[in-house]
Amino acid sequence: MELRFSPLFSGSSGNATYVGCDDGQILVDAGLSGTRITQELQRVGVNPGQLDAILVTHEHSDHIKGIGILSRKYDLPVYASEGTWQAMESKIGAMAAKNMRVIVPGEDFYIGSIDVTPFPTPHDAAQPVGYTFELSGVKLAIATDLGSVRDSWLKYIMGADAVILESNYDPGMLESGPYPYELQRRIRGKHGHLSNDDAGEVAAELVRAGAKQIILGHLSKENNYPELAMQCCSLAFREAGLAFQEDARVFVASRDGNSGMFSVSAELRWER
Ligand SMILES: [Zn+2]
Ligand SMILES: [Zn+2]
Repeated sequence: MELRFSPLFSGSSGNATYVGCDDGQILVDAGLSGTRITQELQRVGVNPGQLDAILVTHEHSDHIKGIGILSRKYDLPVYASEGTWQAMESKIGAMAAKNMRVIVPGEDFYIGSIDVTPFPTPHDAAQPVGYTFELSGVKLAIATDLGSVRDSWLKYIMGADAVILESNYDPGMLESGPYPYELQRRIRGKHGHLSNDDAGEVAAELVRAGAKQIILGHLSKENNYPELAMQCCSLAFREAGLAFQEDARVFVASRDGNSGMFSVSAELRWER
């Protein structure tokens, strides 16, 4: 069976990613309106009524805006950590008790044949997580909203074949940009977001550990450009002795719509 994924929206203004195979279909985060997410799912050929689960990373609005609506409309179970549930419950409207599933960071569970593992992330939310997805010997990881590079999350995603990795901001743009000092400090902080430089270094490590597809995501609208994120990543590859776009494919996930449907593969293939 093939593991597929599609970043539907990625950035500070809203996040949602589709992950699926023949017997399990998952939406990771729903940080835009139910209508927009439904439209985008349909564009990549997924019927939202056939989703098996919505997984939540954390309670920030760019990740949960459409959760309640989608769960109620399509009777979908929502999975989140205990801390995330407590922090988001009042923001997503009434939920059917049977659709409120609690996950424990570090403990895996199955959606269809997909082995899902939530892992803890350093971010200024109640109990944030990233996720890995394993099927038929291939592995996809979603790692965004990360304040600092740490073994505590790296160990979960190293060895993945495809990784959606946060590349949030360019440090120079953040410093000279419109954000007030306190917000800048929050973003740069150990529980904020990952810079292009950090993302580049992590991406190079991931590729050395076997990753064939890196999707840079959650780019800041104000403090980054896709070209800058790519440049940084290419520089990090060069410094690590890797051939950019040859040892692995690198993409930037689109902010406003799907970036195509990808197939996770242990071999380097051009697939979108
Ligand atoms: Zn966040
Ligand atoms: Zn976010």
